[in-house]
Amino acid sequence: MDSIVLFGPPGAGKGTQAQRIMESTGLPQVSTGDMLRAAVAAGTATGIEAKRYMDAGQLVPDEVIIALIKDRIQDSDASNGVMFDGFPRTIPQAEALSEITEVSHVIAIEVPDERIVERICGRYTCGSCSAVYHDTFNPVSVEGICDNCGAGEFKRRADDNADTVLSRLGAYHDQTSPLAQWYESKGIFHVIDGDRAIDEITNDILSALK
Ligand code: ADP
Ligand code: ADP
Ligand code: ZN
Repeated sequence: MDSIVLFGPPGAGKGTQAQRIMESTGLPQVSTGDMLRAAVAAGTATGIEAKRYMDAGQLVPDEVIIALIKDRIQDSDASNGVMFDGFPRTIPQAEALSEITEVSHVIAIEVPDERIVERICGRYTCGSCSAVYHDTFNPVSVEGICDNCGAGEFKRRADDNADTVLSRLGAYHDQTSPLAQWYESKGIFHVIDGDRAIDEITNDILSALK
């Protein structure tokens, strides 16, 4: 199978949907945001460079991202394609990707700007399995316990605050949204209304992938 790209603004639900469609597609989730956060936590040279951009809600330079992806795609679990979450985010990234691997579907999850801040500011994830939750829209069923793995520690991202979100949204409109046309012209672009219940969105994505 070829790779899939999950496309959309910050907080659109890309990570949430990736976790849900992983089982049906068998493709591993490749999130450049997660990879960058791991690099920051490990204190690598990449992490040190990336951190100032991430803290400011700006895109990390293309060379850094493309190097990470070239490396990741060599792993054995990526041999049948992957599900990209949050990559590519610029035309140069998409061009680089087209030289590395075949993309069969781009799933664009659309959510209006006015929903994004509330989504991002209420986001938390399981510290153990990375399941994604939301204070109001998708809370854990039992207070303090992850539905997915039973662990009891949760994390919030430093950049998930109202100020940084606005910069991230600006970067999305300026640098990332032009990619929509680029992929539309290739005939592999599927628009999904992301302002609905999580399960409805999952069903639509699975039909688009058929
Ligand atoms: P992204 O990976 O695109 O940044 P996430 O999957 O992390 O987005 O979702 C952002 C926040 O919005 C999370 O707190 C998540 O629980 C919540 N969320 C995801 N999908 C929906 C939805 N359809 N309706 C309401 N909230 C959602
Ligand atoms: P979200 O989808 O919630 O905005 P991500 O976890 O995808 O968050 O990204 C967090 C930050 O990591 C971004 O604000 C940006 O600084 C950086 N980043 C992630 N992916 C990319 C990418 N493909 N290109 C450039 N910067 C990226
Ligand atoms: Zn968990």
